[in-house]
Amino acid sequence: MIQAESLCKSYELGGQTVHALDRVTFGIGEGQMVAVRGPSGSGKSTLMNIIGCLDRTDSGTYKLAGQDVSQLSDNRLAEIRNSRIGFVFQMFNLLPRMSALENVELPLLYAGRRDARDRAREALAEVGLADRSHHEPNQLSGGQRQRVAIARAIVGNPSIILADEPTGALDSHTGDEILSLFQRLNQRGRTIVVVTHDAAVARHCRRELVIRDGRMVETPDFDTVRLTRPDRDGIVSPPGAQSAASSVAPVASEAH
Ligand code: ADP
Ligand code: MG
Repeated sequence: MIQAESLCKSYELGGQTVHALDRVTFGIGEGQMVAVRGPSGSGKSTLMNIIGCLDRTDSGTYKLAGQDVSQLSDNRLAEIRNSRIGFVFQMFNLLPRMSALENVELPLLYAGRRDARDRAREALAEVGLADRSHHEPNQLSGGQRQRVAIARAIVGNPSIILADEPTGALDSHTGDEILSLFQRLNQRGRTIVVVTHDAAVARHCRRELVIRDGRMVETPDFDTVRLTRPDRDGIVSPPGAQSAASSVAPVASEAH
């Protein structure tokens, strides 16, 4: 689904060069749920912007669903972004004074889809908010707002959902509910990438990629862990399974 090879991205600021991404190579298969974890300033958002076709690499290649998107024009990049990628952000980014339903149908209206309203209702039902469709964001709790944002991300049936610190503005219980929702969407076949500084959040994913100072650090796959320790119920390992926990422990104290 995602094949990234030797991605580099640097920023010039005040005469200094910051290597936000330094030869980052990884792959994410279709149907995976993966965390990209690293401390603040490690390059997570830079990487997410490239994966999400919001930005381009300086060098290296990025293939999305087999297509090399590193050299495409801005317009083509926007087309791919709109059709293939659903975004979820820390602060929800909903439009005020529009109902949940209107927020969710907006991307489809921009795309000229006649079935926008029906699809938006379905998406809201999928995140468990069918009964809140006429509420405006300020009439909803933080967790409900994030559900609306997730409905908006999935309404166009994207190949990939990218979530940047999706629980960062929520208390831990509500955050766990949002992560469970991502797990359910993943079980229905959606590919999900969760960007986080938080090891506890990463443990809800089946696999994590750790990034530090713009470099990807190798870690064992949670998937491999699952193969050797299958869960009784066969669903996503509840908070990460033993080996996953040990693989994330050493850098947990860096999170802030
Ligand atoms: P994270 O999301 O992990 O906190 P970022 O990807 O936002 O990290 O940033 C990685 C590094 O790149 C940081 O050192 C940051 O200061 C720098 N950086 C990010 N965006 C810019 C920019 N637009 N201009 C200059 N430096 C930037
Ligand atoms: Mg960030």
